[in-house]
Amino acid sequence: MTTTERKYPAPQVNPEIKPFFDAATQGTLMLKKCSACGQAHHYPRAICPFCASNRTDWITASGRGTIYSYSVMRRVPVPYAIGYVTLEEGVTMMTNIVDCDLDAIRIGQRVKVVFKPTEGGPPVPMFTPETS
Ligand SMILES: [Zn+2]
Repeated sequence: MTTTERKYPAPQVNPEIKPFFDAATQGTLMLKKCSACGQAHHYPRAICPFCASNRTDWITASGRGTIYSYSVMRRVPVPYAIGYVTLEEGVTMMTNIVDCDLDAIRIGQRVKVVFKPTEGGPPVPMFTPETS
């Protein structure tokens, strides 16, 4: 067990995505959902990537999902796991799987969002296994 925490660079924040990071600062995961076709998406965009409608609204995500795929980076000073998490809302996010035994990560595992501080920027959402 290592006590070393990885450092995360500050994300790029533009006006289109600013509400996402404002919510992240409050510990809330937000997604964009299209009211024309009903699909949620991530990264947040003003124009729906599925049907090109501009009728997209912010919704609060449950912050829960399952690991779709992952990969453990070991040849670095602090090993870490990156992966894709499919949220309950049907959106798949590229993210990090954190605060867990990297050898115990499994595809299909239930995870929940946690927000990690960045260097000089808003926190970013990552995921950790749900304790049953
Ligand atoms: Zn749409």
